[in-house]
Amino acid sequence: MSSPFDLTGKTAIVTGANTGLGQAIAEALATAGADIVAVGRTPPVDTRFAVEALGRRFHDVSADLSTLEPIGRIVAETVEHFGAVDILVNNAGIIRRNDAALFTEDDWDAVMDVNLKTTFFLTQAVGRRMMEQGRGGKIINIASMLSYQGGIRVPSYAASKSGLAGITKALANEWAGKGINVNAIAPGYFSTNNTTALRADEDRSRDILARIPAGRWGTPADIGGAAVFLSSSAADYVHGTLLAVDGGWLGR
Ligand code: NAP
Repeated sequence: MSSPFDLTGKTAIVTGANTGLGQAIAEALATAGADIVAVGRTPPVDTRFAVEALGRRFHDVSADLSTLEPIGRIVAETVEHFGAVDILVNNAGIIRRNDAALFTEDDWDAVMDVNLKTTFFLTQAVGRRMMEQGRGGKIINIASMLSYQGGIRVPSYAASKSGLAGITKALANEWAGKGINVNAIAPGYFSTNNTTALRADEDRSRDILARIPAGRWGTPADIGGAAVFLSSSAADYVHGTLLAVDGGWLGR
């Protein structure tokens, strides 16, 4: 009997897979058997090497996700190379930090465009394709602790990740009956480029660590298992949930 976590024969699109959490998710999905389409603006050289070393197929789509331009290409290239799309991981995201009183329109729009607008319309395009294929699919949004909380000096990020939680539930309501699972992973505090400024701030870094029951920041390898679970048949009856991978942060 095959494992319910086996992704052999599945094709997964992962945005922002060149580094950080996206890279770890792509490698975890490939380890479980999936072929990977990496989407982003920086060549995913290390990710390609790791995925191909696992014996999986790999294709990268060069795309700036601050506009909707690449969406058609992402779906078309995926189908052209691998024949279908089974899994979408909306991981690419940015953060801008400033006091709310000083926050600029550029810092608002830049974050909302990548984290929310492109994510929604890419999901729409992939969801349409999954419905045409008629064999269901798995969509995973990478949310945040700021899908639940307000955070400090990151208002557009909090708005985008709270919005992403809403989109996750809204699309799950529409698509669960079509066999498409839409869920999210809410990472806690992980050591990646996204948190470089936080980790460089001694006071904030100390305060964050003190609140994490696990007693450490997350590393990208901590996220892969949740992504494999939500991509697999083990999660067939899981819809519209946010799965926190946070070292216990929310329970505190
Ligand atoms: P990261 O290392 O900064 O990765 C962000 C990824 O998004 C990179 O691949 C980046 O590409 C890509 N990206 C950003 N803007 C893009 C654009 N316009 N077009 C295409 N790709 C773009 O940070 P990370 O921590 O791994 O973040 C991954 C996701 O996890 C994000 O959605 C983030 O909000 C979320 N998250 C992270 C944490 C954490 O503690 N680290 C916590 C909660 C949620 P480049 O390398 O080219 O910039």
